[in-house]
Amino acid sequence: MLFGAHISTASPFSDAILRAEEIGCECMQIFTTPPQRWNPATIPDKELDRFVKLNEKAKIDPVIIHSIYLINLASDNPFFYESSIKSLIDNMKKAEILGALGVNFHVGSTKGKKMSELIDKIALGIKTVLAASDKPYLILENSAGAGDVIGDKFEELAEILNKVKSPRLKVTLDTAHAFGSGYNLATKDGLEEMLDEFDKYIGLEKLVCLHLNDSAVPLFSKRDRHADIGDGYIGLEAFRRIVNHPRLHGLPGIIETPGNKGKSDIDSLKILRSLVKR
Ligand SMILES: [Zn+2]
Ligand SMILES: [Zn+2]
Repeated sequence: MLFGAHISTASPFSDAILRAEEIGCECMQIFTTPPQRWNPATIPDKELDRFVKLNEKAKIDPVIIHSIYLINLASDNPFFYESSIKSLIDNMKKAEILGALGVNFHVGSTKGKKMSELIDKIALGIKTVLAASDKPYLILENSAGAGDVIGDKFEELAEILNKVKSPRLKVTLDTAHAFGSGYNLATKDGLEEMLDEFDKYIGLEKLVCLHLNDSAVPLFSKRDRHADIGDGYIGLEAFRRIVNHPRLHGLPGIIETPGNKGKSDIDSLKILRSLVKR
């Protein structure tokens, strides 16, 4: 498994590569815009160039862009729906320029509607986004399933994948979200069951990224609260099984951990690497 972190792109944008290199990332995730706003990215071209140049040396691969949090491809509101598509397209174009693997995003919320009523709209949105670029993947992230958030069950993600049918539509598995939505990956059997289910509904070949987060909330809490590796309900032994699992071999594992009790990303990456059997 390749280990990395979500890295700040605070100005200057391209320094993200230096920050990632400094803490020993083999892969990384970034935002291209502040995640709580619709503002389009205004990264100067020379910053995009410098990012690529710096990474020719640093060789951090893959780089994954995380979309803003406002995306909702199931929204009734035309402004939100169109803005979601626009924002994703903008990020896909950035991914192409930066040589990133793709754009990771949360599909949105049904707001109480049935998936069967929304699936066409979601699929159309995704197809529109994919059509605007050639290479980067668009990556669905599983959710913890709070409220009406889409993508907590693998069946739901599979429904979207089956409707869109694109080889460029992939999946990220966030360990904290999976645990929150009821997949008990904290136990040996639970991890096997989850991977079997993932393979049955989605196909493990669609899995391109892991978000390695412990969970501050219990199994089936339907809540999304990350904890540092080993400090939550998933626990260190479960992460040991995850990072050594042959079915997850070679995947990027990105931490999005809170860094409580003075734990830095360096510390968390060190902990993960110490779990790898050699
Ligand atoms: Zn995540
Ligand atoms: Zn989360």
